[in-house]
Amino acid sequence: MNESKSRVSLTRRNLVAGSLGISALTLGAAGAGAAPATARADHWDLETDVVVIGTGALGLPAAIIAKEAGASVIMVEAEEHAGGHAMVSGGTIPLGGGTSAQKKYGIVDSPDLLFRDLTDWSVVEPNGFPDFRYNDREIVRAFADNAAKTYEWLAAHGVAFMDIAPGSFDGVSSGNSAPRSNYAAGLDWPVAYTGKPLEARYQKVIATGAGVVCPLLAAAEKAGVKILLQHRMSSIIRESPDAGRVLGILANNNGKTVRIRARKAVIIGTGGSTGNINFRRMFDPRLTEEYCALGGMPWSNQDASGELAAMAIGASLWGLYNQTGEFGSVLAKPQFIGCQYGYLPFSMQMISWMPGSPVFAKARATGLRVADWQDLILVNMQGSRFYDETQGGFTSNNFGSVKPYVQGSYLNAKNIEYDPSNFLNAALAGFSDGHNGGGPIWAIFDANAVARESWDPKPPSVDFKAGFCFSANTLAELAGAIKMPHQRIPMPAGKLEDSVKRYNSFVESGVDSDFGKAKPLYKIEKAPFYAAWATPNVHDTRAGLRINAKCEVLDMSGAVIPGLYCGGESAGGFSQHGLARATCQGYIAGNNCVATKDA
Ligand SMILES: Cc1cc2nc3c(=O)[nH]c(=O)nc-3n(C[C@H](O)[C@H](O)[C@H](O)COP(=O)(O)OP(=O)(O)OC[C@H]3O[C@@H](n4cnc5c(N)ncnc54)[C@H](O)[C@@H]3O)c2cc1C
Repeated sequence: MNESKSRVSLTRRNLVAGSLGISALTLGAAGAGAAPATARADHWDLETDVVVIGTGALGLPAAIIAKEAGASVIMVEAEEHAGGHAMVSGGTIPLGGGTSAQKKYGIVDSPDLLFRDLTDWSVVEPNGFPDFRYNDREIVRAFADNAAKTYEWLAAHGVAFMDIAPGSFDGVSSGNSAPRSNYAAGLDWPVAYTGKPLEARYQKVIATGAGVVCPLLAAAEKAGVKILLQHRMSSIIRESPDAGRVLGILANNNGKTVRIRARKAVIIGTGGSTGNINFRRMFDPRLTEEYCALGGMPWSNQDASGELAAMAIGASLWGLYNQTGEFGSVLAKPQFIGCQYGYLPFSMQMISWMPGSPVFAKARATGLRVADWQDLILVNMQGSRFYDETQGGFTSNNFGSVKPYVQGSYLNAKNIEYDPSNFLNAALAGFSDGHNGGGPIWAIFDANAVARESWDPKPPSVDFKAGFCFSANTLAELAGAIKMPHQRIPMPAGKLEDSVKRYNSFVESGVDSDFGKAKPLYKIEKAPFYAAWATPNVHDTRAGLRINAKCEVLDMSGAVIPGLYCGGESAGGFSQHGLARATCQGYIAGNNCVATKDA
């Protein structure tokens, strides 16, 4: 196949123009006439030195570095647009260890300090869960040694970090000793949520995922990396199923199989597994199908395809505790209700999926942003309240979160003020019907709440059609109206009426004697009444394939699978939210894969 026919043009102009021009670029010739999927290794449709699977935070640095080092590189991307979760992220990147930005602002940090922070057994969250105790020393050491280099590399490849002191406001588990977060200015790159750039006044002061991805896509194009959109890797080919080196991949392009040979390396950057219900339930059986909103969807999914393809050729998983630990954003309370996808980046809390977004047809509604959780009650599938609605999710340790902090000291854990206050476990609690998950969670509110919040509870703000929002003139009618696939039983009308009546009595008395909400403020009494989807979102993947310091994938006996690399959310051993882990491991994998012996 002629590779030039399969190229994506990634000029700045077409990135900015026409609702993320990259999403509109399809690859007509790719896959045409491809052979059926077999494990034969003697026929290839495309050949290259390095295949990178996934165009997100891991994939882009890895691909650019390998190409700049002289290797030919093909990236395959399942979606019809590039960027993965990195594109819809908040663009905050916690890379420390002595960056030029830290030095400029007088922040003392070093690889050793970063390493000690991220492996400190003694640090626990207010809910008692340790952030860093189960991190793999080899993997964190490699991160600590390369974090500052990754920051400088990103800056040199077009990521415009804001010229402000590195901060620590975001919950990424970046360690207690130094502020390490850097903010990628959104500039005039189009935002996935809206399909257009930020307003001019925000472009230099708000970080966006586009501020990370778009400059890297431009750098990839400049370097000559080939990107094949709508090419979903379906399997990785090894010399034999459990031995020998990796030879290439099969990808599915609109039903056709494309066989791509990788002479040097295949790099897995598929972004994790929490969108795959059966895979995620290996870690937590509660995460059943009603948790149908993954942070980052519907832009891209985390379907465990990288993990499954690597496991099929012998790869091991690693660091599995980190997937079940109750810290950071492994699970999240929605910020927008009445829609399926209600988790949005912290830095852009006012923005949700808007009609201009290239994926709005899949998102279907913008959702209602909750400014004050006093404006509603949350009930489960049976119409019962279960927690103080104003409580949030899990937290994580960044600079200054443990005070006083002495690295490795027993007193760190001993001195925490225990606080179990998150509503997530209560929301996920099952009923006695054999189902493991907690079922849908509904926000119940009335016309007065709509006025206080200035909501407009009709499409496209809410999703009546797919059953993520309902409205009725009485509470009994509302309970009867809630019909959608995840509501396994009819909501008992009397139960919902009782819950609201009891809550209204708490407003009168000023005391929530069921769940201790501080001073319940508003009765729910004026029609019309609403039930809006407020079920927790699954978010991060923090466990995945076993890798070593070079990001090579290891098998069940701890041996390297030659030619196979991984990083980001598909790799295990390192509990940290997001972009720093992924970009840094992309930096490491990209540098190491070019030294791999050819197949
Ligand atoms: C809403 C939101 C906000 C966030 N904000 C921040 C933040 O501010 N700071 C931070 O540090 N982190 C943030 N994160 C997390 C961060 O975006 C991710 O951790 C990071 O992007 C993971 O990088 P990755 O390369 O592993 O996966 P991704 O960036 O998701 O890239 C994976 C890519 O692989 C593709 N893919 C998957 N399977 C296949 C296949 N079989 N074949 C081909 N392609 C495939 C996907 O479509 C995707 O494009 C946020 C995440 C979300 C969802």
